[in-house]
Amino acid sequence: MAERIDGKAVAAAVRQEVAQEVLRLKEEKGLQPGIAVVIVGDDPASRIYVNNKKKACSEVGIYSEEYALPASITQEELTDLIHQLNENPAIHGILVQSPLPKGLDEKAVVENIDPKKDVDAFHALNVGKIMIGDFEFLPCTPAGVIELLDRYGVAIEGKRCVVIGRSNIVGKPMAMLLLHRNGTVTICHSRTKNLAEICREADILVAAVGKAKFVTKDMVKPGAVVIDVGMNRNENGKLCGDVDFDEVEPLASYITPVPGGVGPMTIAMLMKNVVSAAKIQNHLPL
Ligand code: NAP
Repeated sequence: MAERIDGKAVAAAVRQEVAQEVLRLKEEKGLQPGIAVVIVGDDPASRIYVNNKKKACSEVGIYSEEYALPASITQEELTDLIHQLNENPAIHGILVQSPLPKGLDEKAVVENIDPKKDVDAFHALNVGKIMIGDFEFLPCTPAGVIELLDRYGVAIEGKRCVVIGRSNIVGKPMAMLLLHRNGTVTICHSRTKNLAEICREADILVAAVGKAKFVTKDMVKPGAVVIDVGMNRNENGKLCGDVDFDEVEPLASYITPVPGGVGPMTIAMLMKNVVSAAKIQNHLPL
């Protein structure tokens, strides 16, 4: 039976460390890390995410400003706001909540964020830096997965790693981080042939598909570490991952539950990135 990886506990530990570092920066350097969170339109899920991020900031002592804008805002107005935030010395991180309403170009917005303030690590410059292994910020969800593996003593070096999913925010950077840690990485996607066979080779299997019960026991090698990034709703509206947990748990060595696995790590890693951004912008060592 697999050991369950407790993402809630690890995220709480990360947040505690961030809170201590924020306090140290305030006391020793007179510096308070700050973030601007931009939300456009009235998507209820986005509102929940933004509220959670603001709450997490206040718990660790990070200053936050919210910019709630109507869906009718123009691309130019949004770009102007981003430019103002780029110039604001109290703001070290800028986060634009995705998705933006139809008609607004999300990619163009991200490209206008100063890369030093891009705490999501979505800007092309930061994506490129991740590719060459010379990065300051890591995208929050994949970084959270690495943190979980590290804190549970799961070695990555030399392991066969399979990532299901190739999105720019999860699958691709996940694969790259595992590669930087000397894993032997395969990325699978919707056109992959013999998916189950490839997954069965994995010592570390990461599912980032967005489909409930996608990973079944026939796709898992006994003793594998199974990381479930998925956040889906099952037929009863309950939050669930991509892995058929009941089926896979007895086979795996470690497994992340949903909820309480990867999910809580994303915001914790965002908090860490805001502190890193504040240090970088103030020429302090990371
Ligand atoms: P996405 O952009 O929809 O990407 C899904 C990926 O899964 C795509 O690369 C797709 O392949 C692949 N896929 C779809 N059907 C497949 C199939 N039948 N066989 C193999 N691969 C298949 O989703 P995402 O943004 O990466 O998110 C993935 C999941 O993680 C979602 O449930 C999301 O809610 C969750 N998530 C969680 C967190 C967190 O904090 N825990 C953060 C972000 C996302 P193609 O590229 O070929 O289409």
